[in-house]
Amino acid sequence: MDFTTSKTLHEEALDHIVGGVNSPSRAYKGVGGGTPVYMESAKGAYFWDVDGNKYIDYLGAYGPIITGHAHPHIAEAISHAAYNGVLYGAPTKLENTFAKMLKSAIPSLEKVRFVNSGTEAVMTTVRVARAYTGRNKVIKFSGCYHGHFDSVLVEAGSGPATLGTPDSAGIPQDVAKDVITVTFNDLESFRQAMERWGDEVAAVLVEPLVGNFGIVTPKEGFLEGVNTITHDAGALVIYDEIITSFRFTYGNTQQLYGIEPDMTAMGKIIGGGLPIGAYGGRQDIMEQVAPLGPAYQAGTMAGNPASMAAGIACLEVLQQDGVYEKLDRLGERLEIGIVEKASEYGIPISVNRMCGAMTVYFGGDTVENYEQAEATDGEAFAQFFHLMLNQGINLAPSKFEAWFLTTEHTESDIDATIEAAGKAFAAMAE
Ligand code: PLP
Repeated sequence: MDFTTSKTLHEEALDHIVGGVNSPSRAYKGVGGGTPVYMESAKGAYFWDVDGNKYIDYLGAYGPIITGHAHPHIAEAISHAAYNGVLYGAPTKLENTFAKMLKSAIPSLEKVRFVNSGTEAVMTTVRVARAYTGRNKVIKFSGCYHGHFDSVLVEAGSGPATLGTPDSAGIPQDVAKDVITVTFNDLESFRQAMERWGDEVAAVLVEPLVGNFGIVTPKEGFLEGVNTITHDAGALVIYDEIITSFRFTYGNTQQLYGIEPDMTAMGKIIGGGLPIGAYGGRQDIMEQVAPLGPAYQAGTMAGNPASMAAGIACLEVLQQDGVYEKLDRLGERLEIGIVEKASEYGIPISVNRMCGAMTVYFGGDTVENYEQAEATDGEAFAQFFHLMLNQGINLAPSKFEAWFLTTEHTESDIDATIEAAGKAFAAMAE
């Protein structure tokens, strides 16, 4: 494949944009370098780059894209919003409509608030939990990424872990000392941490199904145990469902497992591809938020008509019959095909999948926590990534990320991907 124009654009970008990119994962550092491909347009399951190469996309923009790129229903909603005024700084009916849609899909949301990113959503839930409990400490699970605000950039997973900087510079020690990290899927280590610090803990931040060191499901009883132990200590459970909201079912992961947190942070898919975040939960907790309560949170862009309209349109598409069944069917076909090809060429892999999202780990061992994800073979993944890219398959450039399917992928896209994976494995086996 010819990447000449991408190379030229990247050289130009390096002169003007720090690191050439506006989010670090895009720089290909997690796959041994190379020139990031500059995309020109996208439709359905496909991308076209500035050199005219076509790709089948599994990046899904790191999660938000589930109905395919430029879905006509969402494009129409955004276009209408553009001509109707994208920002008023005053309330709109769209906000009510969208809030009602979220609440009826996710019963634990007694009240919601819209913000502009996943980071903002999680950051505010932590502030509100501190306000509600009058405590400062937060427990999180190692490798889980909750955005880039100070309190959670501690052993933070995907982007930061890929760069080898799980603790960012610039975070005061005073902030980091209030964050306790324990191992995901290890209830005993969580129990011990809560025995030691429980009465100082405001909240436990949980990705109920992890998306940031690959797709990792909770072991049976883990989420229930976390809820019980946390509530016994008088602390709150916050689910970070930024990556999982509406990804596996029409609603959140909490419904898949039949368990409710006190608060939830959401983002990605609920914006239909436009910037968004949302948080919500129990009414008595949410009433801590200004203008009702003492916990301040605001936003010039929050609840803007364009993001609201795109989000509503996206959920309308996801309400259609058979959406999640299709994603699961395609995901299963892809998983089986890749596993078969890897075994044909003697490449040790293991695959974690939920519905239309999966991660292929190299090395062959089971992955149930961050330490195991970290131990997988990053060099083999990097080689695989570039071999796939060169055959027109666009994966996320990190061994810690998921492959995301959309409703627009077809069986022949899946079969072409399996075919390409076979060629990549063959080259790796040489
Ligand atoms: N939480 C989770 C689980 C995420 O996956 C992400 C982003 O990848 C975030 C929070 C941060 O969201 P944003 O990038 O919209 O700030």
